Amino acid sequence: MHALVKSRAAPGIELQDIPRPTVGPNDVMIRVKRTAICGTDMHIYNWDGWAQRTIPVPMAVGHEYCGEIVEIGSEVSGFKLGDRVSGEGHITCGHCRNCRAGRRHLCRNTVGVGVNRPGCFAEFVVIPALNAFKLPDAIDDEIAAILDPLGNAVHTALAFDVVGEDVLITGAGPIGIMAAAIVRFVGARHVVITDVNDYRLDLARKMGATLALNVTRDSLDDAMKQLGMQEGFDVGLEMSGNATAFRDLLRTMHHGGSVALLGLPPNDVAIDWNEVILKGLTLKGIYGRQMFETWYKMAAILQSGLNIRPIITHRLPYTEFQHAFDVMGKGQSGKVVMDWTK
Ligand code: NAD
Ligand code: ZN
Repeated sequence: MHALVKSRAAPGIELQDIPRPTVGPNDVMIRVKRTAICGTDMHIYNWDGWAQRTIPVPMAVGHEYCGEIVEIGSEVSGFKLGDRVSGEGHITCGHCRNCRAGRRHLCRNTVGVGVNRPGCFAEFVVIPALNAFKLPDAIDDEIAAILDPLGNAVHTALAFDVVGEDVLITGAGPIGIMAAAIVRFVGARHVVITDVNDYRLDLARKMGATLALNVTRDSLDDAMKQLGMQEGFDVGLEMSGNATAFRDLLRTMHHGGSVALLGLPPNDVAIDWNEVILKGLTLKGIYGRQMFETWYKMAAILQSGLNIRPIITHRLPYTEFQHAFDVMGKGQSGKVVMDWTK
């Protein structure tokens, strides 16, 4: 089968012909239809320090996808051939305390599809049946290919009550932009989003942000004045991984506010802890998606009308993968979706 393989311990990715994976008793094989490129895939493509420590080579990578079940392991029930599915990329152990308590997103033995084991940038991918999520007809293939990052956005955006609240989102990457659309959809008042990239800020405006600020030019304090906000943001969603953005977020939070942290800072970040302590802030780290509550909620929110289609800005056949990675690498894109059916 064709697959995009991280073939060497160096920047880049290659289209190769590799053997199809085999199905174990608890697995399903999925014929991949659409995939999307994640920021993580860019780290792997660029072969940064994290990728060097983490990714075995050679290996097919990728973890955002949808497809159709074409083979079912002998012990699997609840699926049939032809089922349309997307896949939860975190494979959990099933026997640790958190897994046994139904908190699988907190499993300490998590293995990542396309990170620690072969991924979905391929004509076929094999995952445990437990990780497959059956798609309602209302969710088409290209939207189904981005449920993994949408799930990150839903998990973070719904971590705290945002109804009637003012929300600050730092980082207008695809996940931050989708989070802006979600908090507006569920009833937040002002949704301010920050970035340093105008292309992405424009996209955030189109998808529901009240104000989208380029922090190289605009200040959060002015934005708050413009909106008549005197006390600060009620809920903060950190989605940039950038230290300055995080410090600005803490500074502009209202006393008693809540902050959900999804962005991964590349290094240690020093903050003024007085902002947290004296303002009585609640900080919560967010990892992945809740299994599988986030999946059911996001499917339902999409069915009730949340429109995230504008976040998909590029659609390409997988054979044009180099163009896809180049576009994503320049930051002049939302989500880039590759088609594996042609
Ligand atoms: P992304 O890298 O596309 O988005 C980050 C955005 O932050 C970029 O648009 C960048 O321009 C912006 N940024 C940089 N400096 C900034 C600043 N000073 N102020 C405001 N914005 C600034 O990533 P993404 O795919 O949208 O993911 C968002 C973050 O979440 C990343 O840090 C990613 O690593 C992380 N992530 C975490 C999890 C998890 O499970 N915790 C899962 C997926 C992604
Ligand atoms: Zn576990």
